Amino acid sequence: MKQILIIGGGPAGCMAAIACKTQHPQHQVILLEGNSRLGEKLRLTGGGRCNLTANVSAEEIIKHTPRNGRFLFSSLNNMDPHTIMRFFTDRKLLLKEEDHQRIFPITDKAEDVVNVLENELKKYGVQIQLSTLVTSIDVKHKQIKTNKGNFPFDHLIFATGGATYPQTGSNGQSFELLKQCGHTITPLKPSEVPLVSNASIIQSKDLQGLSFKDITITAFVNEKKIIQVTHDLLFTHFGLSGPAALQTSSYLNDAFIDGNKVHVSIDFLPKVKREILEAQVKLKPIEEILLFHGIPKRLIQVLKTGESLDVMSIKQFKLELHGTRGFTTAFVTCGGVSLKEIDPKTMRSKLVPWLSICGEALDVNSLTGGYNMTVAFSTGYTAGLMLEN
Ligand SMILES: Cc1cc2nc3c(=O)[nH]c(=O)nc-3n(C[C@H](O)[C@H](O)[C@H](O)COP(=O)(O)OP(=O)(O)OC[C@H]3O[C@@H](n4cnc5c(N)ncnc54)[C@H](O)[C@@H]3O)c2cc1C
Repeated sequence: MKQILIIGGGPAGCMAAIACKTQHPQHQVILLEGNSRLGEKLRLTGGGRCNLTANVSAEEIIKHTPRNGRFLFSSLNNMDPHTIMRFFTDRKLLLKEEDHQRIFPITDKAEDVVNVLENELKKYGVQIQLSTLVTSIDVKHKQIKTNKGNFPFDHLIFATGGATYPQTGSNGQSFELLKQCGHTITPLKPSEVPLVSNASIIQSKDLQGLSFKDITITAFVNEKKIIQVTHDLLFTHFGLSGPAALQTSSYLNDAFIDGNKVHVSIDFLPKVKREILEAQVKLKPIEEILLFHGIPKRLIQVLKTGESLDVMSIKQFKLELHGTRGFTTAFVTCGGVSLKEIDPKTMRSKLVPWLSICGEALDVNSLTGGYNMTVAFSTGYTAGLMLEN
């Protein structure tokens, strides 16, 4: 019997512990979590309803992973979105699909997802140590130090998450522990994060609170097109938020440096062709046409008084961007443990034989919409499954 320690009780750590105990029942498995309850960040996903995966193929998950998606090939082979869905429905948590293939529990309660994981951990005899913060690793003697004493281990699985929303417990400090083990941490940047604009139309707050369903944003860096996203968008007092802005931000991680000019072009009516609008405004006043297509009166008013109100201002509304809202409001961390040092088939470290790393701690980041949760579950599952006997 070996003692397996798993650090981090988020989706990756819980799934790693479940896989570990079901596949290697002979081992003692201990899950250590710094918070007083499991899945603190998971509880925030999908606006507190837990967007646990997306009803898409493994290939689509890779496609929606702007950074290092190919690394996921083997882990998604072990646990893809359909396996994740089956995992929960087999345990009597019914799921539903919403727009953009997003999957939620039918109860709309993130807590129910955590309960399934917790029940499973208990059923298989995983020892859960809450309020137990790992502070250092004694590499030589293979033991970890925590605020609740020392724990020896034969194998260690790191599922400590990234550095965003630090109040959830994943505050980036655990990357220092991974450095102690000899691992390289690539630069950490906020991703899936609201975008900041200093443009006067934003600073005036005239557009604050306006939201749009399925508009199209195209992002440019130094006039070069980087990405186009169609999703929901919210204007805020600082700039842009909502899934369209968050997803766009994932492609702009390296964009906001001195000298770069970043802007987006917003199409508020992506389903209506420009030529059709142009033909319509020849027949009737533009305001009437835009109201007919569902453009809010406030946007029309703002465009009329400030900028120009014409078809182009609706189909190609240009907004300069100047940065992001940073780690405190980012959903995901870009950067993490260098993947050169991790075996993608097992999640085991190539540098340290007794170490595996999974979830957001790795240098992989996907889009919101259940993709990051899928990465956490599938890499966690693989880490637990692929221990050396
Ligand atoms: C507001 C918000 C909304 C989101 N919405 C979505 C969404 O809609 N779809 C989606 O796919 N993703 C979403 N995400 C991202 C998703 O929640 C994360 O990618 C996912 O939780 C990562 O899982 P993880 O297990 O790797 O890490 P985490 O969930 O961060 O879990 C890591 C755990 O490790 C613990 N820990 C860290 N260091 C230590 C230590 N030294 N000792 C003990 N414990 C430690 C932490 O307390 C934490 O509980 C969202 C994130 C946020 C913040």
